[in-house]
Amino acid sequence: KEGEEIVIPTAVIKRLPKYHRHLSKLIRKGVEKISSKDFGQIVGVSAPQLRQDLNHFGNFGQQGYGYNIEKLYNELSKVMGIEKKSNMVLVGVGNLGQALINSTDFKRRGFYLSAAFDINPRLVGMMINGIKVRDIETIENYIRENDINIAIITVPEEAAQKLADRMIDAGVKGIWNFAPVDLKVPKGVSVENEHLTEGLLRLSFKVKDDKK
Ligand code: ATP
Repeated sequence: KEGEEIVIPTAVIKRLPKYHRHLSKLIRKGVEKISSKDFGQIVGVSAPQLRQDLNHFGNFGQQGYGYNIEKLYNELSKVMGIEKKSNMVLVGVGNLGQALINSTDFKRRGFYLSAAFDINPRLVGMMINGIKVRDIETIENYIRENDINIAIITVPEEAAQKLADRMIDAGVKGIWNFAPVDLKVPKGVSVENEHLTEGLLRLSFKVKDDKK
């Protein structure tokens, strides 16, 4: 019904970025349509599961035809909010921060990193991959003036929460956090905690029996 909010299960939302990534690959290859069986195989999901997932967003598949890849891609982009461009800042220009600044993958997906911030005067003023490093004390103004909605946090643990609070006060709506702390954010703000060493520990758990 018009105006009624559709509730999408978290498990489905978790799989969407993967579907989206593979659809983008297929478009670049020039493929126009694909069956749920073939696409399911590519993304590692059974065809019925895939159809059920995608049915949350409308009726894309046509019986005996398969999915129109571009249409599905555009719809998933809309669902994930990436057909609108996002303006991002990054705080903490250490090793990890610099690696992220140097990654070119975001822009292709509509995420524009326009500035980086640090507390270290030796870093302030530097240009990295075309991005200027600015003084952390100017971040609130920058966020307000440039309509920034996403912030990437790559500062040490002890600085992360305070910076998150400051950026949220200035208008940031989403935080991609690489600091090893679970950030607390108010309602209406989203956070994705990316704890890199946790992935390594999970891996260690899985391979430990093979260790000699
Ligand atoms: P990484 O952990 O990203 O590999 P690193 O080991 O080079 O980085 P860290 O000590 O983790 O360095 O700090 C990352 C960056 O965060 C540094 O450039 C540091 O100056 C910056 N930083 C630390 N505290 C703050 C703060 N309060 N505001 C802004 N930047 C900060």
